[in-house]
Amino acid sequence: MPLHDELTSPQAVWDELLAGNERFAAQASEHPHMHDERRAELSAGQSPRAVVLSCSDSRAPVELLFDSGLGDIFVVRTAGEILGLSVLASVEYAVNGLGCPLVVVLGHEFCGAVGAALTAVTTGELPGGFSNVLVERVTPSVLAAQREGHTESADVERVHVRHTVDTLFAQFPALREKVAEGSVGVVGARYRVSDNRVETVCSHGVE
Ligand SMILES: [Zn+2]
Repeated sequence: MPLHDELTSPQAVWDELLAGNERFAAQASEHPHMHDERRAELSAGQSPRAVVLSCSDSRAPVELLFDSGLGDIFVVRTAGEILGLSVLASVEYAVNGLGCPLVVVLGHEFCGAVGAALTAVTTGELPGGFSNVLVERVTPSVLAAQREGHTESADVERVHVRHTVDTLFAQFPALREKVAEGSVGVVGARYRVSDNRVETVCSHGVE
């Protein structure tokens, strides 16, 4: 089922994204909202259902893995789904300016940025260049994971997603108010490259 116009509650949008991922994982994608009618509709403006902050990894293509189409998702991607001013501005615009009822922070299996941060913490070696910024932003998540006793990449990826959601709330306080009033939901999730499925890591205002 494509995303319907009447879907505006955070829970309905999350359910629909998960249903889209189920279709994608089952190799039964419907590729909704890709027709001329949709293109014509979008010429009048956009009203995306969700803003997704994900890693830039080529194995985690956001629209494809949620089997969604044109105008459905406002996507922000950075390696390691790290936050920065441009990212915060983009998420804020999607929520305040476009009225997105759902924010998803999407990490993934085999994340190179998380792996580089794990290596840096373990060996003290930095990758060099601008990649050092990725390591700096992900390292607090690695340290938090270690405090919780996690050393496996999969667990560190989950902690990084949760930590990123917490940091997003801290840096964008209005988001927490919107969650409290029920107008916006926030989900932390992890995409598994090996079986194409999205797992929920944490959620606020949705289940
Ligand atoms: Zn990644």
